[in-house]
Amino acid sequence: MDYKDLANLIFPDAKDISYYEEKYPRRNLKEGAVVTRYAPSPTGVMHVGGLYQGLIAKKIVEQTEGVFFLRIEDTDQKREIENGVMEIVNSLKQFGLEADEGMISDNEEKGDYGPYKQSQRKEIYQSYAKYLIEQGKAYPCFCTPEDVEAIRSKQEAAKIRPGYYGVWAKCRNNTVEEMAEKIKEGKNYIIRFKSPGREDKKIKHKDVIKGNVEFPENDQDIVIIKADGLPTYHFAHAIDDHLMGTTHVIRGDEWLSSVPLHLQLFHELGFKAPKYAHIAPIMKNDNGNKRKLSKRKDPEAAVSYYEEMGIPAEAVNEYLLNIANSNFENWRRANKDKDISEFELQLNKMSVSGALFDMVKLLDVGKTVISKFTAEKVYEETLDWAKRHDEELVKMLSDKEYSLKVFGIERGNKKPRKDISKWSDVKENIEYMYDEQFYSKEQSYEYQVINEKEDIEKILNLYIEKYYDENDEKQEWFDKIKELAGEMGYAKEVKEFKANPEMYKAHVGDVSTVLRVALTARTNTPDMYEIMQVIGKERMAKRFEKAIKEMRH
Ligand code: GLU
Repeated sequence: MDYKDLANLIFPDAKDISYYEEKYPRRNLKEGAVVTRYAPSPTGVMHVGGLYQGLIAKKIVEQTEGVFFLRIEDTDQKREIENGVMEIVNSLKQFGLEADEGMISDNEEKGDYGPYKQSQRKEIYQSYAKYLIEQGKAYPCFCTPEDVEAIRSKQEAAKIRPGYYGVWAKCRNNTVEEMAEKIKEGKNYIIRFKSPGREDKKIKHKDVIKGNVEFPENDQDIVIIKADGLPTYHFAHAIDDHLMGTTHVIRGDEWLSSVPLHLQLFHELGFKAPKYAHIAPIMKNDNGNKRKLSKRKDPEAAVSYYEEMGIPAEAVNEYLLNIANSNFENWRRANKDKDISEFELQLNKMSVSGALFDMVKLLDVGKTVISKFTAEKVYEETLDWAKRHDEELVKMLSDKEYSLKVFGIERGNKKPRKDISKWSDVKENIEYMYDEQFYSKEQSYEYQVINEKEDIEKILNLYIEKYYDENDEKQEWFDKIKELAGEMGYAKEVKEFKANPEMYKAHVGDVSTVLRVALTARTNTPDMYEIMQVIGKERMAKRFEKAIKEMRH
């Protein structure tokens, strides 16, 4: 009886690994092309950290004309949730991060290196486990969970490093005959890797993000195939990333300490190891303390939050690049109108300790991003969002032509207005432009400086009767407000007022405020000339009447 016989006894039907090595040939890509993946477990709502990883991976791939694929890591079937894959696929799509290969729904996939769902790759893992057993690099372990627990307690009591290694690895020294016998007796077992490492030796490794790191060698005989026949994360990682041709493993830095094990696995399997880039988690400032963004404490940690709030994907992506590379901000300043695809992301410039996430900043980025959208796009996206979240807003927007004019105010020019940071802001932002909303709500009119009822009434009446003309260009329009101010005995220029404050009760700006407040019931609005153009003289006159009536009350 030798290792080969043992391997045959354990995996009688497993194919020779040459079958898979041929089935998945090395990829034929141009020099420098990065092949990487997003490899989540479908265990629940997608976290913004996952989105961040996906964005980084996709970006690096696009920059190098490589391949980005989506692999579902569902070997821990206890933790799986229904529709978990669809949730991931949809989230990626929503943020423009579709994979080139991999899962495209719960059960469908595309690409030549599949299956891309680990639970469907059982036979592949078993072939490679068999291959290791044949060489004496893996073995069946008959320890029960209780046995393993007992070892652990002993180690703890003796204050010794825990784990299944060296002298503690009871089953590694069984003879082939003993192993075969136990199997034939029907004993339960799992497969462990027989680590050739020594804890007192060090390995040096260069991580693309973290830089040079040094670790003790791995000496743990980790489980590679579990009792259910599925692989552990570590083993699946080595097999999959080898067969799928991954050049760069971009993943969360909770895996950094597993690098010695992973390099060892690649080596013992005879594979070329990929490069590793370990991303630090996204952090949040919590009353002066930096902590990880948490699914439990922070609503903004869930990717679904952005859809609910109506924060456009473009804003989220732009913000995430902001925190990924600190030079992004300068790039953006110098390239205001460029698409983010033109920014060259660099993995080695990513934060080693974790970038800070700040919702206020994200919303600010959102304002700028939205300010560059066309009125048409703002309209479509708002309507789309409203259909899912706000029926009243859908109704408001039913007159598309009019709404495009509303969204067109101070848009499409050199310095577009930045007043919308998310679609859930829109209603409050524009509702005064819609008569139905305007008249159905109680409005309070705060005229500020000019407060005599008679003056206000006179300003409004004179303006409609004598000064406002829809055909005026902006300069003429403004000149007329100045004339009106003059006629009423106010300063026509703010400068004049400041020079001789005792001569005037108010100035042209205060007259404008009266017009603005009567028209919109707000003191702060976008450009009033444009608002008047959109509302038109007739509706304006009606609004002034209402303002006067309410003042007389
Ligand atoms: N399934 C692993 C996780 O979600 C993937 C890690 C990796 O990218 O290799 O953490």
